Amino acid sequence: MTLATGMRLVGLDGQSFRFDAGTLCLELLLTGGEGELSKWERLHTPGDLADWIPNSRAGLGDLVQVSAGELAATLRLRAALQRLAATAASGSRAFSAADLSALNEAAAAPPPVPVIGPALERGWASPVTGAQFLSMVARDAVEVFGGPALDRVRMCGGERCLLLFLDTSRPGARRWCSMDRCGNRHKLRTRRDRHPAG
Ligand SMILES: [Zn+2]
Repeated sequence: MTLATGMRLVGLDGQSFRFDAGTLCLELLLTGGEGELSKWERLHTPGDLADWIPNSRAGLGDLVQVSAGELAATLRLRAALQRLAATAASGSRAFSAADLSALNEAAAAPPPVPVIGPALERGWASPVTGAQFLSMVARDAVEVFGGPALDRVRMCGGERCLLLFLDTSRPGARRWCSMDRCGNRHKLRTRRDRHPAG
C-alpha cells in the first residue's frame, strides 16, 4: 500500500530487528492481541493507538484522533484479523463468519478523505477519526483475504515465533519474520546439525 518497509520490533529476549508485515491489516497485529499475544499489548488507552498510527504504513501521520469506543472497536477488529490471518497461514480456508462480519462492519465506515493543498501537496482532511482509520485497515484486509494475496499470508517458520506477514516478494518464498532473527537462527541451527562436533 505504501513504500514503508517495516517496523523495528524488540523480542522478549531484547533483540531488536526489523519486521515487514507486508500490508497494513497485518501490521496492526503488531500492537498486541489476546492470550499469549497479550505480552506484547501496546494499546491500553486511545492515545496509545493514536501514537502508534504514525509509525504504521497507513500514511496518516499524526492526524488520527481516537475515542475510547474506537479503541474497543480496534481491539475487536484486531482479534478477528489475528484469527483470520492465523487460519489463512495454516492453509485452511475455514474462516469464522463472525470474523468476516467484523471486517465488513469496519469497512462499511467511510475511509479517510484525501485532499490536495495549494502547493499541490497531498494530505488528508483533518482530523481523521479512529473509525476512518479502521475502515482503511478493514478495506486492506478485504483486499488481502478476498483475492490472490490470501495464499501469501504466512506465519514465520521460526520456533515459537507467531509473527504473521504478507509475503510480497516476487518469488513468494519468504519464510521468516526477519533474516536477522528467525532466518539467522535457522541457518545457525542447520549449520550446527551438519557439524555436530563443531
Ligand atoms: Zn520469526
